[in-house]
Amino acid sequence: METKILAIDDNSISLAVKLINDGELVGMPTETVYGLGASGLNPDAVKKIFTAKGRPSDNPLIAHVHKDYDITNLVHITQNYVYDLIKEFMPGPLTLVLNSKGVVCSEAVCGGDTLAVRMPSHAGCQKFLKAVNLPIVAPSANLSKHTSPTTAKYVYDDLNGKIPLILDGGKCSGGIESTVLDVTTKTPRILRAGLITKEMIESVVGRCEYASHSEGDKVRSPGVKYAHYQPRCETALYEFNDLDSAIFRYEKEVAKNKTPYIMCPTFVAENFKGKNLLLLGETELEIAFNLYDKLLEGEKKADIIIAIAMPSETGVYAGIMNRLRKSCG
Ligand code: AMP
Ligand code: MG
Repeated sequence: METKILAIDDNSISLAVKLINDGELVGMPTETVYGLGASGLNPDAVKKIFTAKGRPSDNPLIAHVHKDYDITNLVHITQNYVYDLIKEFMPGPLTLVLNSKGVVCSEAVCGGDTLAVRMPSHAGCQKFLKAVNLPIVAPSANLSKHTSPTTAKYVYDDLNGKIPLILDGGKCSGGIESTVLDVTTKTPRILRAGLITKEMIESVVGRCEYASHSEGDKVRSPGVKYAHYQPRCETALYEFNDLDSAIFRYEKEVAKNKTPYIMCPTFVAENFKGKNLLLLGETELEIAFNLYDKLLEGEKKADIIIAIAMPSETGVYAGIMNRLRKSCG
């Protein structure tokens, strides 16, 4: 199958809508990362997502809808604070896990009784979702385990020949996936950290906790247990306060005739003068924006990416560290 990459305009959106209605898959930009979309009402189309990605069959998909879509068509809202979250953060990089009404097919939710719902803020994606006017279920548009794509070209690199169309909406402004928040309970629980931080949710709801994914706790978000985000080269992760060990490792790799790259926030770069660097940026938002891009750049250049941890795990750093541990830990 030929895979087209088309800039978003009326023609490409018409084609995308036709493909979705015909049960095909479409790569689409969002403000976080690119998604691989299918109609959430079409079980055969949804199965194609799992096949194209090699995604484990127990890892459910997020339903994406346009900003005027009434999500109570799809889910029950049982907690009043959910309306405040919707008002504050949607459209945007927040995914809400709610009790499903069963409209989105069971293949998309892997037989579960909840549905994850998101309204992307990316203008081109909104245009497509508005035109198709269906819940579009979509995981990130990469092969399973690989780093998530932040450009149409990266989607093409992973899925060329497997899908008919990628809508090109430029480089994603967010850079890491949405925050996944379980809002079926009295206190909202973060299942996956992201750009909408615990602190931001607390400022609206007053309380919020991280779900524990330890043994014994029912796994609410199956995705968290899988290998993820991994570049196709060796990796290592060093603590922010242990830069000497990272330098020691770098020298060791050089002595083995390997090409190491250190991936770090720009504000520690002066510690690594003269070394190969993948610089992530100065602020937490810049670092999130660049993270997957630098991992994908690194896998092409480096034998090993030596990643430096963030200085803390508050705010957006929580989501960045979650991705760094899975990609490089
Ligand atoms: P991806 O689309 O690859 O970014 O992965 C979507 C993430 O959302 C995964 O971590 C899933 O496990 C999680 N997710 C999707 N639907 C649900 C749901 N109904 N309940 C809990 N987590 C979900
Ligand atoms: Mg993914």
